[in-house]
Amino acid sequence: MNLTARPWLDRIEPYRPGRHAATSDGSMASNESPLGTSAQVLDAITAAARRAHRYPDPLADELRAELAQRHHVSPDQILVGNGSDELIFLLAWAYLAQNGHAVCADPAYRIDEISTYVVGARLTKVALRDWTHDLEAMATISADLAYVVNPHNPTGTARSYADVERFIESSPAGLVVVDEAYIDFVDDPDATSAVSLVDTGRVAVLRTFSKVHGLAGLRVGYLVADSSIIATLRKVRAPFSVSSLAQAGALAAARDREHWQRVRAYTRAGRDEVQRLFQIAGYAVVPSQANFVLVEAPEEEQLVARLAGAGISVRPGSALGAPGTVRVSVPAQKGLQLLAHALTTSDLCMPASSGSRHDQERFV
Ligand SMILES: *Cc1c(COP(=O)(O)O)cnc(C)c1O
Repeated sequence: MNLTARPWLDRIEPYRPGRHAATSDGSMASNESPLGTSAQVLDAITAAARRAHRYPDPLADELRAELAQRHHVSPDQILVGNGSDELIFLLAWAYLAQNGHAVCADPAYRIDEISTYVVGARLTKVALRDWTHDLEAMATISADLAYVVNPHNPTGTARSYADVERFIESSPAGLVVVDEAYIDFVDDPDATSAVSLVDTGRVAVLRTFSKVHGLAGLRVGYLVADSSIIATLRKVRAPFSVSSLAQAGALAAARDREHWQRVRAYTRAGRDEVQRLFQIAGYAVVPSQANFVLVEAPEEEQLVARLAGAGISVRPGSALGAPGTVRVSVPAQKGLQLLAHALTTSDLCMPASSGSRHDQERFV
């Protein structure tokens, strides 16, 4: 018998991951934390490694209790996942599979798009307006599920709490998923977050340990939602998807507010610096509320190559549905120096060997 994948999978453009540069200083493609993880997190992971022969706690009770307390919700309103990406797939299985309909921004966060197509659902993408979610246009679309990424990836722009609240009230969508992967970097996270709206029963908020907490490699995210939504998703998930090392690391990270504060302050200052460097070099930038900056670059490939020649890897906008742009994650101090150097050196100095340097980059 001929083997063919399900026909609706043909629509999926494969995910194009960011690349690591030759050095971690130059890696600005994946919005990872420039300050790494805290020492407490490493200690917690090391201790947990001694219990690696045991299955993990299926629901991550200790972590859930900590997160519930932080968000003033009950633990049964929280589900911990193998990165928030796993939770996005669970939402698609539970609320979109077999001819469901989702609405999101265009460009979308790629996982929202891929997970929708994987389950054979339909996706309506609504163009951004001034680089932000056009919530007013999205609210005219009747869908099972609406994705609001706030701040958005790849633009870094945020809509206010009042705007998101108005959208939730006016949208006919059954469930509004607000992805707050970058909420820690906005001016006032508590005042912007939609967590207080989960009591409406129609809102699910996604958070991750991959960004401000610096745990992208451990894979931990969580969802805050009505307990009935969590109960549904629990039926769908693989019971041991979050490893014991990941649970221990995330718990230590959640308790380390000092590190959170340090990363937040550093990233916000570094973001200003990245914006300034590109503006001085003559590029327009999208004002960011996240840990990256979207740079307008009609000659996208040329800018990517120029930076690669200086040992810097960034994310080409065309890999993110935003051709003519380049996304640059806020790097550590040495990365800022690399950027400053790359952007002040003339294009003509770009060595012919920059291509081979590019080839040495590793996929992540
Ligand atoms: C980085 C990111 C996430 C985090 O994904 P994980 O699977 O938790 O690493 C989620 N949503 C958006 C929009 C992101 O950019």
